[in-house]
Amino acid sequence: MTVTKFVAACAMASCLSFVPVRAEPPSQAIETGQPTLSLEDLDALLEEDEIEESVASLNSSEVADIIGIVVVLGFAFFSFARKSVALKYISFAMSIAYLGFYKSNLVSIVNIFAILQGNLPGFRHSIPWYLLIGFTVVSTVLWGRLYCGRICAFGALTQVLDRLLPSRLRIDPPAWLDRRLAYLKYGILGGVLVYFLGTGDFLIYRYVEPFWMFTLNGNVVMWTLVAILLIATVFVRNLYCRYLCSVGAALGLISNLTVFRIKRWGECQNCKICEKACEWGAIDGPKISVAECVRCDDCERIYHDQKKCVHWIVLQKKPRAQIIASS
Ligand code: SF4
Ligand code: SF4
Repeated sequence: MTVTKFVAACAMASCLSFVPVRAEPPSQAIETGQPTLSLEDLDALLEEDEIEESVASLNSSEVADIIGIVVVLGFAFFSFARKSVALKYISFAMSIAYLGFYKSNLVSIVNIFAILQGNLPGFRHSIPWYLLIGFTVVSTVLWGRLYCGRICAFGALTQVLDRLLPSRLRIDPPAWLDRRLAYLKYGILGGVLVYFLGTGDFLIYRYVEPFWMFTLNGNVVMWTLVAILLIATVFVRNLYCRYLCSVGAALGLISNLTVFRIKRWGECQNCKICEKACEWGAIDGPKISVAECVRCDDCERIYHDQKKCVHWIVLQKKPRAQIIASS
């Protein structure tokens, strides 16, 4: 606590000595006749006061940044809730343009370093950062890797590329290889965290994630690695996201807590339509790997399509079959 804070705390203590801020044990209350405040209580009160004061004194560019991130996150969630392909691609465009090239505001391994060290940015100047991280964590716990499926500018870029590039160029790794390669990102996450905790060198991010590319500011080695990655992505869809991304790995671990999971029907036991449609290798027979699923909606739109989904087709045919059997 600084001297200024301490003086302010004493002044506030004298003002607040008649205000029942927190219930104290009866004996203490009887001894002093007044509720008491610890230094931590006062510190917390001062911080709250500072937050209120600073939110009220935001300048126009900070307000614009908050509105920008709220619009992008809000639209991404709206597109997710509507399960609309068109809205999803609009959401991608917003993420690439605004979060990518304009703000370069992506969740990064550097954020994980900061959280591990308890070295968080001041709230006053980083409200968009808190909104992005907060939305990412909460949405992952509730629905899974929504951040990867809608908001991450790099993921959005590779998904758009995947639509634009001719599918004949694509190589689909066999399922057994795909599942093994998916573990690679967890190894990278663990390795980078061990390296950071051992050396304190956060600049390692430049060689394990390509998100800096939106700043257009890298050295020859960094650009060469990104070029190789983007060329490889032409042939293997979502290559970085599926096999190499440490942020995706961290979100994959959190997504094991997912509350609202994708529904599966009894018919999913044998039907392979969704498994083939999933670009993320997240469906294995009747099971969906929550850690790999990015809530892209592709399978969910099939479930809702009564002409494609075997579950609905069976239901529609059942009465006829029963009529034939009983005649
Ligand atoms: S896996 Fe990584 S790069 Fe891909 S969308 Fe998620 S955070 Fe972005
Ligand atoms: S197709 Fe389904 S299982 Fe695969 S990533 Fe999309 S939402 Fe998840």
